[in-house]
Amino acid sequence: MDIQNLDDKHIWHPYTQYATSPKPLVVESAKGARINTTDGNSIIDAVASWWVNIHGHSNERLAAAVHKQFLNLEHVIFAGFTHDAATGLAESLLPLLPGKPDRLFFSDNGSTAVEVGVKMALQYFYNKGEGHKNQVICFEEAFHGETFGGMALSGDLEFNKPYESKLFDVLRIPAPIGERAKESREQLEELLKSGNVAAFLFEPLVLGTAGMLMYDPEVLSDLIALARSYGALCIADEVMTGFGRTGTLFACDQSTEKPDIIAMSKGLTGGSMPMGLTSCPEFLFEAFISEDKMKTFFHGHSYTGNPLACAVAIESLKMLTEQKCQSDIERIVSSHKAFAQKHENNPKFKEIRQCGTILALEYQTGEKTSYFNSKRDQLYNFFIERGVLLRPLGNVIYILPPYCISDEELISVYEAIEASLNINW
Ligand SMILES: *Cc1c(COP(=O)(O)O)cnc(C)c1O
Repeated sequence: MDIQNLDDKHIWHPYTQYATSPKPLVVESAKGARINTTDGNSIIDAVASWWVNIHGHSNERLAAAVHKQFLNLEHVIFAGFTHDAATGLAESLLPLLPGKPDRLFFSDNGSTAVEVGVKMALQYFYNKGEGHKNQVICFEEAFHGETFGGMALSGDLEFNKPYESKLFDVLRIPAPIGERAKESREQLEELLKSGNVAAFLFEPLVLGTAGMLMYDPEVLSDLIALARSYGALCIADEVMTGFGRTGTLFACDQSTEKPDIIAMSKGLTGGSMPMGLTSCPEFLFEAFISEDKMKTFFHGHSYTGNPLACAVAIESLKMLTEQKCQSDIERIVSSHKAFAQKHENNPKFKEIRQCGTILALEYQTGEKTSYFNSKRDQLYNFFIERGVLLRPLGNVIYILPPYCISDEELISVYEAIEASLNINW
């Protein structure tokens, strides 16, 4: 049987409504910013394969790092054992993180990296005998993952409705987008006054899944400072914004106030292997050291600290900090800026937003901005037919490319977007 038929029979794809979606395209190979399908097409990966890919596909340096590591040590239990892949990653990454944290905790994906951060914060207060501090404040529009913790921490997303009754309570404030910044700050302070808040969790500068909603670094600094003044720990979910995406290495490099805890995943291994990381400062770690076994951090996944993922993360980070990649990021930032300026006054767009290498274009559709906006599927198919992978979030189109994307490829993406403006809905 051919691949498509086998897939049709045995595989269940993520975020896919089988009644209306076309069959998945079969990928033969991928190189750089291109995905090559078995039907002979070459598609520009303008969303970095769900925001993970930063150096392009099938990168030789990343492949060599995995190969070398595999021949030496592919995996070992991470309780009671350690290895130079993990310590090497800590040594290269920690000094580059906002606020220069001291320690890394390993997990497998973005959702678990965030959950680990929240568990650390809750148990920090519990261990200190301040168990009443057990509330978490999140944005109403937040997205923090797919697991039950991730869903609970995320805002009222339509797709989490079936599980709603099983999700734990969190406190919510509006994200500080545009005019809502003042309201967001006021509500944060009101909630902090209870003295029961353990953590303030946020996506710094860009709320991705909510539709690439953006806010300023000054606003972020102000919220962090406020939460800290009431003794709450600040957790930055840098899962999407990390590793150069916002133009700086991390989004929180742009705010003057730094978070206590940082969750990372997507760009971490250059888009090649699943891994999550949560960083924290020494004072937090120290609250878990005790003769009392109950103060232990009882968390760990089977593949915690996987050496292959660590080795590829070290190489990816090295590439990211090299001049070549830094100028690629700058090139994408200016290219996006020029495209945004060109369409500044185009009435077909309700708003155009940019943060670093992310460009978001909100279409004027007369319908409410939402993930379920009916234009979404039509737009997706329109772009695929033109050899460009863009996954609209409702009526918001965004470009979030691998940094190795060429100028010509970027132009093709912009041209496909311009062509879509002439669709007769
Ligand atoms: C994607 C994402 C997550 C979840 O990461 P997974 O690896 O999909 O579990 C969490 N937070 C943010 C901000 C994300 O973009």
